[in-house]
Amino acid sequence: MEGASVRTLAARAAGAGGALPAPAEPPKISFTSWVTYERYFRLGVGVKTTHNGAMDPITPLEQALHAARALVLADLVAGEVAEADVVSLVEDSVAQRRWWVEQWPDGVEFVAGLVAQDVQDALLERYGRWPLCPVCGSGDPHALDVEPELGPDPHWVCHKAGVKVAAVGALGRAVGGVSS
Ligand SMILES: [Zn+2]
Repeated sequence: MEGASVRTLAARAAGAGGALPAPAEPPKISFTSWVTYERYFRLGVGVKTTHNGAMDPITPLEQALHAARALVLADLVAGEVAEADVVSLVEDSVAQRRWWVEQWPDGVEFVAGLVAQDVQDALLERYGRWPLCPVCGSGDPHALDVEPELGPDPHWVCHKAGVKVAAVGALGRAVGGVSS
């Protein structure tokens, strides 16, 4: 529901923005409204609903999905594999996990770990291992695993070295120098 109404509003705002530059209007007004639209719909939605959901409260499920998406994308960026088609793998997983949590609401805390594993599996089929272990300097390159596989507060771990490398979403800090 929320998604649909946001899309409708966005479409309306886009329509209004397109209609604004009437012959007599100075161009800066349409620019301003475009910036407002960008802030509100692209950046503002998540922040607004997190801090005060008075108008259009976002469910814990949507918050969890939003967070999971952001965390896994952050790790993909850290590994420099956040290409458009990879991002679509994240979207696919989030869509499937929305259905999954709707069937089992108690699993809402597990979504970030599950999305990370879904994306890892999908990448393995198409591209290869991800994320590669940044801890073990020598030997065969190997991927990190998510632990717990089904639980809250998921981390990337290296089973070879037996260490927790980073929380899901914080791989950039563990990888170091790789991201700019
Ligand atoms: Zn390792």
